[in-house]
Amino acid sequence: MKKEYAVIGLGRFGGSICKELNREGMEVLAIDLDEDKVNEYKDIASHAVIADSTDEKVLKELGIRNIDHVIVAIGDNIQASILTTLMLKELGIMKITVKAQNDYHEKVLNKIGADQVVHPERDMGKRIAHSIISNNVLDYLELSDDHSVVEVKAGRKLIGRTLVDLDIRALYGCNVVGIKRNRDIDVSPMPTETILDGDILIIIGEDRDLSRFEKNLV
Ligand code: ATP
Ligand code: ATP
Ligand code: CA
Repeated sequence: MKKEYAVIGLGRFGGSICKELNREGMEVLAIDLDEDKVNEYKDIASHAVIADSTDEKVLKELGIRNIDHVIVAIGDNIQASILTTLMLKELGIMKITVKAQNDYHEKVLNKIGADQVVHPERDMGKRIAHSIISNNVLDYLELSDDHSVVEVKAGRKLIGRTLVDLDIRALYGCNVVGIKRNRDIDVSPMPTETILDGDILIIIGEDRDLSRFEKNLV
């Protein structure tokens, strides 16, 4: 059976999730307090309803129990976000993703059992900061507090060299897990592969090692 989703809060973030799920052919129940927002999503979501998600009776009436994955995208009203999450948890929702507004909010959400807490403004800010610092760092994905994956455009110091010749693993403690070339991604690059102009390396490692790599080789 196809998975069913619900998005609570149709701001820019929740709205964007709704649109993308719809584009991928998924069933989405869209919920917001605001009538105009709900109208905007009438043709995008499978169902769009005006409702206050902090009202337990309303959540039950909506049949939220039958939803496999609920995304709570209420922003400024942290209290409403927490209360909604708590009730979804009590109703036994299998998977709950919540957008956190700040670190305290995130802590509380983790404590009450949110399965996934996302912090899009903070994380996007980090990614963009990394790409601003170095023109060659194209993307950055945080894996934990001190591990990340970066996408790096091969610069002068890398072009024409091989992974074995650069000795990246030994010298920097990082692993090149992929090389993007034209439209292809080689996800198990040979150590003897020569890096070409235009290549993009995908590297995983500890942040301090990745920084050293970026400083010395990018
Ligand atoms: P954005 O994603 O645009 O940055 P935001 O993080 O600034 O959004 P808000 O605009 O504060 O978040 O909230 C997102 C949506 O959540 C709003 O459309 C708001 O009407 C809705 N919302 C807030 N409280 C509730 C609630 N209790 N029940 C349902 N929807 C709610
Ligand atoms: P977030 O990234 O948290 O979602 P936002 O997109 O909702 O933020 P705002 O909170 O409206 O944006 O604005 C971000 C910051 O920009 C605020 O701290 C605000 O004080 C500041 N700001 C807004 N206008 C100006 C301005 N004209 N000059 C300087 N700072 C400004
Ligand atoms: Ca915002």
